[in-house]
Amino acid sequence: MKTLDTLLDYSLWPLLFGGAVAGMAYGMAHGHGPLAFNITYLILAAVLFTLEKVRPHEEDWHESDGQEIPDFAHTLLTKLSVQVLVVSATVLGIQTQMGDKPGGGFWPSQWPMFFQVALGLVVAEFGLYWAHRVAHEWMPLWRFHAVHHSSKKLWFFNTGRFHFIDTFKSMLFTVPCVAISGAPGPVTVWVGGITAFIGILTHCNIRMKFGWLNYIFNTPGLHRWHHSMDLREGNKNYGENLVLWDLIFRTYYDDSRRRPPKRIGIHEAMPKTFFGQLAVPFYWKRYQAEQKRLKLEAKAAKAAAKKEKRAKETEPAGV
Ligand SMILES: [Zn+2]
Ligand SMILES: [Zn+2]
Repeated sequence: MKTLDTLLDYSLWPLLFGGAVAGMAYGMAHGHGPLAFNITYLILAAVLFTLEKVRPHEEDWHESDGQEIPDFAHTLLTKLSVQVLVVSATVLGIQTQMGDKPGGGFWPSQWPMFFQVALGLVVAEFGLYWAHRVAHEWMPLWRFHAVHHSSKKLWFFNTGRFHFIDTFKSMLFTVPCVAISGAPGPVTVWVGGITAFIGILTHCNIRMKFGWLNYIFNTPGLHRWHHSMDLREGNKNYGENLVLWDLIFRTYYDDSRRRPPKRIGIHEAMPKTFFGQLAVPFYWKRYQAEQKRLKLEAKAAKAAAKKEKRAKETEPAGV
């Protein structure tokens, strides 16, 4: 039984990722790429939802954080903004330049598709890595990215919890990298699909082990460190799909001797509502100061009430 469990620990991630890739490959081979991607993604989400119930990594993360509506609304809005960007790229003719050609510039179109997609992932990852890293290291962008990190738990459902401007910025970093490389259309479709699959896997709350996969892919194990409130761990592992650039630029972090923290989130305050979260990056400092003042006032009121209660208790009887 224990052997089977260990086998499952190590084989779940490759099985889930491999299954999703196989589903998309089947659709692409039959000329229904986008449809196959969407169906595969929904099936993967349903499987992750079930596995989170039966094999949770953190039992406590099952409890609701009251953020389901904002999580869902951010997911929809970011998807919409990506669509707008893709349509704009089509209108501007960028996509035709990028995609429909058999490959341009120095792109090795003669390579087998597997290697072309691997190269596409490395190229796209360069943009994704820097987009993510500046969001952590440059305050004006952190205000937007903080929406994602304000989650107090990780599960498949909050994968899309990004401020839409944060997503927009990631696209602005990544699309030019892919365009300059001259990657052909099918490669960009594959990179997009794989990014979505790895993204939802990365956030899932499922007990799994990763072994050497941690040196290639951004696994849930690595991403849980990235959500740590300790910045020595949190400002690491910026890779979206691959950890290559983290290894090269020395921002890779893993510690197999310890468990990633259960208590995650940000040190700053974050509104609870979707619209509040959309607006807060634009008046970040004022909001933080206000919340700090409210917190201090509440603390002082609590201390005063406690003092009064104690005074009443010690009052001599009959006075
Ligand atoms: Zn981050
Ligand atoms: Zn995340």
